[in-house]
Amino acid sequence: MKTLIKNGKIVTKNNQTTTCDLWLEDGIIAGIGKDFSTITFDQEYDAKNQLITPGLVDVHVHLREPGFTYKETIKDGTKAAARGGYTTVCAMPNLNPVPDTVEKFEQVKAIIERDAVVKVLQYAPITEELRSERLTDQKGLKAVGAFAFTNDGVGVQSAGTMYLAMKEAAKNKMALVAHTEDESLLFGGVMHKGEISEKLQLPGILSATESSQIARDLILAEETGVHYHVCHVSTKESVRVIREAKQAGVHVTAEVSPHHLILIDENITEDHGYWKMNPPLRANEDRQALIEGLLDGTIDCIATDHAPHGFEEKNQSFLKSPFGIVGSETAFQLIYTHFVETGKFTLEQVINWMAVKPAEIFGIKAGTLMIGQPADVTIFDLENEEKIDDEKFASLGVNTPFTGWPVKGTTLMTFVDGQLVYNKED
Ligand SMILES: [Zn+2]
Repeated sequence: MKTLIKNGKIVTKNNQTTTCDLWLEDGIIAGIGKDFSTITFDQEYDAKNQLITPGLVDVHVHLREPGFTYKETIKDGTKAAARGGYTTVCAMPNLNPVPDTVEKFEQVKAIIERDAVVKVLQYAPITEELRSERLTDQKGLKAVGAFAFTNDGVGVQSAGTMYLAMKEAAKNKMALVAHTEDESLLFGGVMHKGEISEKLQLPGILSATESSQIARDLILAEETGVHYHVCHVSTKESVRVIREAKQAGVHVTAEVSPHHLILIDENITEDHGYWKMNPPLRANEDRQALIEGLLDGTIDCIATDHAPHGFEEKNQSFLKSPFGIVGSETAFQLIYTHFVETGKFTLEQVINWMAVKPAEIFGIKAGTLMIGQPADVTIFDLENEEKIDDEKFASLGVNTPFTGWPVKGTTLMTFVDGQLVYNKED
């Protein structure tokens, strides 16, 4: 099958754009250029005035299956990813059962193989049942395709357990990916500790709940030589200690979520679950530090932490609602609208943080538009203005505070291995 995407705009070095055609064949990019008139294609798409990017890569999503299919399924979660322009997602293992053995891991893989519409790389847990006690069989899980190890959703509470897990991961040449949260510093918190938590009379989460565990882990990462990746960095202190560790030569990488780049606790106007996420929305000075961290390379990439929940469970107060918001279908539009349209980031930087870098830091074969690479390609309309509309979501989750926000940067088409997996017109 030969596919031609005609007349699209591609971002090249120094944020320049060039108009060109893309020839996809047998799952790979067979040609990029302007001189394909002698070739007969099976199908052609006109991308005139539209942006063509490498398919986006999201290293942090929750697909909720098996165990929580009322929140999301692998089928719907990957359809949501495709609708957001993503062609590769890395799925968290806080499932039921937790895929902490080879057998349970293979059960998740079988559903992915059957139902996923984009590429899914599945994480395995660091410890059994995500309890900070016994390590999983890293070697065995790697052999059946585990992408990396993480207990996302909870932090690894014991330094000793983390040390042993890092030593083992370094030996197995696998990344250790951490949701950092010291539960002894949680004090029942549900939102960032500050003026807003006081005003709403809700228990606050200290910045140190996150940053102190990152500081601990960075020292352990230095000791063990592991590739340590920090999930959803949210505080200025976290950015500072990661920056210092990078300068000291520690193999650390980090991600930030769109909501922490755009929202702060002052935006929370009501005691409603749609504002509840973990880590919480922080102060403006934290948000500024995250932006600086991205710009100076302390933070490597943007990841959504797509965390769908049932409507009823999120449609209640902070104290009752679970943590998390959906993100796959809003990430590119929000980042494009808030940072590229306003001149704070270039399009090249955004593509770098949402496709190139996440692939690069984990060695995923994705994130570039180059001849011979997988034909994972997205077409965006940067001019179309619309409002974020949860009724159009492919995800089962509608839990987001961004509903109704005006945005540009609509996904028109998403191709995975040359196959059209999302088309706005369908
Ligand atoms: Zn997390």
